[in-house]
Amino acid sequence: MIELKSISKQYKVTVRDKGLKGAIKSMFVRKYKTIDALCDVSFKIDDGEIVGYIGPNGAGKSTTIKIMCGILAPTSGECVVNGYDPMKQRKSYVKHIGAVFGQRSNLSWDLPIIDSFELLKEIYRISDEDYNTNLKSLTEILELEELLNKPPRQMSLGQRMKCELAGAMLHNPKVLFLDEPTIGLDSTSKLVVRDMIKSINNKMNVTVILTTHDMNDIEALTNRVILIGKGKLLYDGSFNNIKNKYRDKITIDLELYDEISDFAIDGYEVVNNTPGKITVKPCKDTKFNIIDFTQQVYGKYNLKDINVNHLNLEEIIYELYKEYNV
Ligand code: ADP
Repeated sequence: MIELKSISKQYKVTVRDKGLKGAIKSMFVRKYKTIDALCDVSFKIDDGEIVGYIGPNGAGKSTTIKIMCGILAPTSGECVVNGYDPMKQRKSYVKHIGAVFGQRSNLSWDLPIIDSFELLKEIYRISDEDYNTNLKSLTEILELEELLNKPPRQMSLGQRMKCELAGAMLHNPKVLFLDEPTIGLDSTSKLVVRDMIKSINNKMNVTVILTTHDMNDIEALTNRVILIGKGKLLYDGSFNNIKNKYRDKITIDLELYDEISDFAIDGYEVVNNTPGKITVKPCKDTKFNIIDFTQQVYGKYNLKDINVNHLNLEEIIYELYKEYNV
């Protein structure tokens, strides 16, 4: 179980006045300001869960992950991961977590993967028996056989991510932190990596905390999201609820047989009226129903074609950020 209780983190940074004068002045008199990276953030994550930790850039995601990994100490509040205080018990704690951080690799670029794994075995002091068992099951789950003797230098990004995941799981951690695991991958590799994360979570019963900008990662992997913005926890709950909330945020494209410059339907606002295409959206209090709407249009105009556009996932998140002012 992971529990964050009222975690706050402030960074102290130096500021200097503009220009050369400011640069010289700052050499003698240092001015500081504090940045509130996290304010009073609390949440709990149960064993075996996959949670999407999302928010715009600068929201505080990395700071939270670093605190959970024991890389950073919070300014105030308490963080407990599987009974450990990550910062204070760092030495014994690191054996229980695995991490794949975006572009940073745990593997040596030029060494065959198996050699990097042997190195990780020594770093984590994994016994021969555990190492052999874990390597065998990871090779099966992630279909690594053909990659073990290749260096990352000769691999595709997707294959490298496979090996990164295996490397992070070799010591059989109970918690896995994944930072943007599908970034830069082509769409097929994204599907493969998502499948692998699911399998690891399922078969090795590992808790996964995932930061991502790709809402399809969330859609594929979990229904729980924690949304953070400007250092504050904004939402912790079901992703489906968020999607349902914006179900009515639609636009409707219409094609008519005639050109109608003063097109109007009760309860709908015209967003765009150009020759060949009219776009409308429901007014604030209108509950959209395609049959009622189509009948209304048919009653007044010669309708040729109709197309309803729902918000895609990225647009939903954008709406959410707007709503929470982040
Ligand atoms: P995210 O991962 O969501 O992009 P971060 O946790 O990296 O957000 O950053 C949160 C805030 O803290 C931002 O305003 C960022 O500029 C600031 N910040 C992050 N790391 C440092 C640091 N080492 N020193 C000063 N400010 C930092």
